[in-house]
Amino acid sequence: MRGWNFSAGPAAIPQEVIKEVQEELLEYNGSGASIIEIGHRTDIYSQVAEESKNDLIEILNIPNSHEVLFLQGGATHQFSMIPLNFRNMGNNADYVVSGTWSKKAADEASKLIDVNISASSENMSFSVFPKCSDWDISKHSSYVHYCPNETIQGIAMHEIPKIDKPLMADMTSVILSQPLDVSKFDLIYAGAQKNIGPAGLTIVIISKELMEKGDSSLPKILRYSEHSKANSMLNTPPTFSWYFAGKVFKWIKRSGGLDHFEALNKKKAENLYDFIDSTDFYVNNLQKSQRSLMNVTFNLKNDDLNSSFLDESKANSLLNLKGHALVGGMRASIYNAMPEEGVTQLIQFMSEFESKYG
Ligand SMILES: *Cc1c(COP(=O)(O)O)cnc(C)c1O
Repeated sequence: MRGWNFSAGPAAIPQEVIKEVQEELLEYNGSGASIIEIGHRTDIYSQVAEESKNDLIEILNIPNSHEVLFLQGGATHQFSMIPLNFRNMGNNADYVVSGTWSKKAADEASKLIDVNISASSENMSFSVFPKCSDWDISKHSSYVHYCPNETIQGIAMHEIPKIDKPLMADMTSVILSQPLDVSKFDLIYAGAQKNIGPAGLTIVIISKELMEKGDSSLPKILRYSEHSKANSMLNTPPTFSWYFAGKVFKWIKRSGGLDHFEALNKKKAENLYDFIDSTDFYVNNLQKSQRSLMNVTFNLKNDDLNSSFLDESKANSLLNLKGHALVGGMRASIYNAMPEEGVTQLIQFMSEFESKYG
């Protein structure tokens, strides 16, 4: 039986989408073969790929000034692809370090480009998100990179920074959770396995103007503009994940689009944080305005109860609530695919657990 899956990633996918894929997995649409057995340059697959891209453009309202790429290598590959492409545009690059993922991005970039840490909350164990007005942006930097939703710490920046530089964002754990003004960014990237679909696919949304400025001496596979020219089929793309993501995009559309998910996601997060705040048994010390709506981290006041909490939640079909090893405690990831009912069940369990042990 499927449980309520709070995994941070690979994360829950809507059951109705998995069923749809299951139903057509043996033979796709009169092709006589499975979608995973068809050449990526066939008419039938090209149509799937294009529709998936167009649906994403529609959902996110991506302006014509931006290209959408379906790549591989995960968000982690973007940590190096970004500096490789754009290090020629300035003397260095600005990185805001607000949690584990943005720190990794900065560390990887520093092997390729001079990195200026514009702001960092590392010495406060990432318990606050550095305020945009305090970011120290270098005069001659190529770009500014930040991560608006730190998946591991559960801390987020909800406003879009106003920066007079190419702005790049790791949106792996927050993309498609709400409407987004894509025009404010020069590059957005996201590994698919949090809020888009199966692992293996990385979405990059990039300003076409910027893309053309990328270092032309790089091998093709590392250049955004080459991927764009080849319609994201420079080599064999992750065909199954691309197709699958298309199914999720259709599900988002028929569910009411990103306005619907924004309202739903706010409600789910609010319910859970309100409950956590209502008791001393569970703790989340982050400022309310900086709490992630996707990854709700919390601790049990009494750490000794952690393993009982995990065992008993699992026995109640509430899965994968263990926090990241770096921070400990608990984490409930509640991306689009988590229905309100799952959060209600979690709160009920937490309340009962407290009554039993509190
Ligand atoms: C999960 C995650 C990553 C890592 O993604 P991969 O696709 O595994 O490389 C990077 N950044 C953020 C914000 C994430 O949540």
